[in-house]
Amino acid sequence: MLLTITNYQSPATDLGYLLHKNPANLHSFDLSFGHAHVFYPETHDDLCTAALLLDVDPVGLVRNRRGPAGEGGLLDQYVNDRPYVASSFLSVAIAKVFGTAIGGRSKSRQELADTAIPLSARISVLPCKPGEAFIHDLFEPLGYEVTTQRHALDEKFPEWGESPYYTVELKAEVRLQDLLSHVYVLVPVLDAEKHYWVGDDEVDKLMRHGEGWLAAHPHKEVIVKRYLKYRHHLAQEALSRLADPDQPDPDAAEAAHAIEELAIESPLKLWEQRLGSVVSVLKAQGVKRVLDLGCGEGRLLRELMEEKQFTEIVGMDVSHRSLEIASDRLRMDQIPPKQKERIRLLHGSLMYRDKRLEGFDAACVVEVIEHLDPPRLAAFERVLFECARPHKVVITTPNVEYNVKFETLPAGKFRHKDHRFEWTRDQFRAWAATITQRFGYSASFLSVGPEDPSVGSPTQMGVFSR
Ligand code: SAH
Repeated sequence: MLLTITNYQSPATDLGYLLHKNPANLHSFDLSFGHAHVFYPETHDDLCTAALLLDVDPVGLVRNRRGPAGEGGLLDQYVNDRPYVASSFLSVAIAKVFGTAIGGRSKSRQELADTAIPLSARISVLPCKPGEAFIHDLFEPLGYEVTTQRHALDEKFPEWGESPYYTVELKAEVRLQDLLSHVYVLVPVLDAEKHYWVGDDEVDKLMRHGEGWLAAHPHKEVIVKRYLKYRHHLAQEALSRLADPDQPDPDAAEAAHAIEELAIESPLKLWEQRLGSVVSVLKAQGVKRVLDLGCGEGRLLRELMEEKQFTEIVGMDVSHRSLEIASDRLRMDQIPPKQKERIRLLHGSLMYRDKRLEGFDAACVVEVIEHLDPPRLAAFERVLFECARPHKVVITTPNVEYNVKFETLPAGKFRHKDHRFEWTRDQFRAWAATITQRFGYSASFLSVGPEDPSVGSPTQMGVFSR
């Protein structure tokens, strides 16, 4: 299975910077379903092609139960088209191998990453049972010139007729990030099979990679339904999120999980200690205008309102429901006008640059980062430290080393089902070091809650200053 991407804008070899893969080398990656290799068959100043070769292991697929279901016939599990065609395996490989590029980031060519450039992509074998017109219907509204070539089932036996396989070439002036996102979403839509069970996080992935184009696509309904393999409740959720992009997922599971987390941590009254520590750091630093990012149900906001020092308090969250609860908790409809001037609740996402977050003395991000998967964490880093750039940032996150001390938490489990990670103290410091280095901040660290000599405290806090 081969995907090639060609850049026609001189110096075309800058494609290597955009993909974060040096054109001079062969790059190989182990994936759960096989191997991926990236190499450059052509490198000229006016044309440079990168190839992603996917080597899917059919026996490994059966072992990992990712291949076609076995009931229909055992042979089908081992002998099938998966190793040879573009499918959702390609999407997984793109996300893994070109994760930085699909996130729109480039260390040394950011401006180029942000620019539409003449690119083409060629997918050597793409299965599409609905036929050729469907391929055109999906890619042409996105501005591509689409060329398709249908393959016969077997060249030696033309009487057998045509196969459902096509070679597809897409050409456009487009940002590389968009090209990769389009391929990421639309290849599994064209292919009828999906190699893994479609879970709730697939909706998030679809929203993330469909951002900026899917909502306006004339065939968005069929794209969403086929991408989610006709799991109706997921498709409905995705379509309603697309219909109103200002209302991203309020994260239905969040509330229930948050209660579990409170129960695990409650013997320590940890959340009270956490808020107390955040408020005292802000007070000691002379902060007046403060943001609470991912403010949830507004516990910290309520503490901040108690302190006259804070003249402007802004809470932001992606979840409407949490903001409603926060508004009730703060009795927003009852507070006197003078007090009301001090506080605002904003609906917004930390994934997007937001002018409303600029110009503050400090931002608090309390128990939020562990909810962000790697591409979201990366987006958040730039939104906060590069764009909003408050003078101080106070971040808290669980210290996973302490989890052994929670009697009700099974070994190896996180405190909250939605946590994407929980870091050791070293991991948090290592992450903080990348932040200070990239964005010109310094960092210091505090512990929150009872300190254990070997595993530290339950919550860790980083205070970033510039
Ligand atoms: N800071 C609060 C809530 C922590 S729970 C407290 O300490 O009580 C994590 C919060 O982050 C949730 O309210 C969730 O809705 C919010 N969140 C998650 N992803 C977000 C995003 N991308 N943008 C803004 N808020 C987000």
